[in-house]
Amino acid sequence: MSDEANPFESLQSQIDEAANYLDVGGDEIERLKHPERVLETNLTIEGDDGDLERFTAFRSQFNGDRGPYKGGIRYHPQVSRDEVKALSGWMTYKTAIVDIPLGGGKGGIALDPDDYSEAELERLTRSFAKELRPLIGEDRDVPAPDVNTGQREMNWIKDTYETLENTTEPGVITGKALDSGGSEGRVEATGRSTVIAAREAFDYLDKDLEGATVAVQGYGNAGWIAAKLIDEMGATVVAASDSSGGIYNPDGFDPVAAKEHKNETGSVVGYEESDEEITNDEVLTLDVDLLIPAALENAIDADLAEDVAADVISEAANGPLTPAADEVLEETDVFVIPDILANAGGVTVSYFEWVQNRQRFYWSEERVNEELETIIVDAFDALVETYEEHDLENPRTAAYVVAIQRVADAFEEAGSWP
Ligand code: NAD
Repeated sequence: MSDEANPFESLQSQIDEAANYLDVGGDEIERLKHPERVLETNLTIEGDDGDLERFTAFRSQFNGDRGPYKGGIRYHPQVSRDEVKALSGWMTYKTAIVDIPLGGGKGGIALDPDDYSEAELERLTRSFAKELRPLIGEDRDVPAPDVNTGQREMNWIKDTYETLENTTEPGVITGKALDSGGSEGRVEATGRSTVIAAREAFDYLDKDLEGATVAVQGYGNAGWIAAKLIDEMGATVVAASDSSGGIYNPDGFDPVAAKEHKNETGSVVGYEESDEEITNDEVLTLDVDLLIPAALENAIDADLAEDVAADVISEAANGPLTPAADEVLEETDVFVIPDILANAGGVTVSYFEWVQNRQRFYWSEERVNEELETIIVDAFDALVETYEEHDLENPRTAAYVVAIQRVADAFEEAGSWP
């Protein structure tokens, strides 16, 4: 993408934009634009062939004013210091907009996990967990899964930590399997918050969700659950895509059957209820009421944004719009529910997992979903209040204004330390 930005610079410009409306001094804004600390470590493990290989790994603890650092660990060739710093900042403002008592962190190892065996990945993950041990803990820093990591890696980290600490502390990490202390409702949580936020936006804009048309880009965990739930709310899913391409039926299709087709064949493409196959870009520019980008960062750049015809976008993915695309959509009056709110269901239910681990008392799925509903609706209301109070053009700026003010208030209330 031509206007793809350095993610850390994007984060800082979003904070600068929000700072115009904040009752926070410039020196403190400067503090809120940088992580408190970043661990950079070299992990050397033995490969299955007996050779040693070195990997670079990071953990950024961006801000802990409101509680333990919280954020995922990603395994991807593009993991870099700046990316991890940016993602940890977004986590800080995500936990603040939904008002859960956690800070922001993020970690990662630069590698393509497809190139390694399970045994190699286990050695590498345990080696990283050893490095992380002094930094993490249920009251210090609580990692979680991210791109290319999941329950398996979380269980390895938990086991390494508990073994070395000679304790049981499931709350040291979230995103665990249910049998290892995971929470009901976690798998659906991101898609669920995406559609709760969309429903609230439709209500706010006086638009009817019943019969509204929806396009979903990316049919993985976040996207397909969002499609299923928005269909249950009475909307009509007309398009979906994955990395192999897109499908379209103006009369709508059954999102569950489309997912079953993807499970069987590896893609939504070829699903029988689809009228026609369309490209990934066409899915993003269809004339629909709601667009849910649920794939990767920077999916919509400024050029593509010119062609976006949806009225509302609910960002299930992290950073699906480039900053330049954001400006275009502001001009064309598209109501964008920012990622830090729309996809915050994931971290919110991670928070519930942590609470349950600490209580050693587990909730029903019904209770998890009810508590999530309350948190997302309250966050949306806070966003709208600030959006109207400052007559803002962009709901994203409103979300940052609310979130940054909360972090700054916590810092000020703590007083100064010599
Ligand atoms: P996933 O790997 O389960 O699914 C990603 C989907 O995107 C796949 O269907 C893939 O085929 C598709 N895709 C990839 N490139 C594409 C392209 N160019 N066009 C269309 N589709 C494409 O991932 P996920 O967990 O659903 O995460 C999706 C996004 O949501 C990411 O940005 C992630 O950071 C964000 N997110 C996820 C969670 C969560 O709990 N899963 C929480 C917060 C944010």
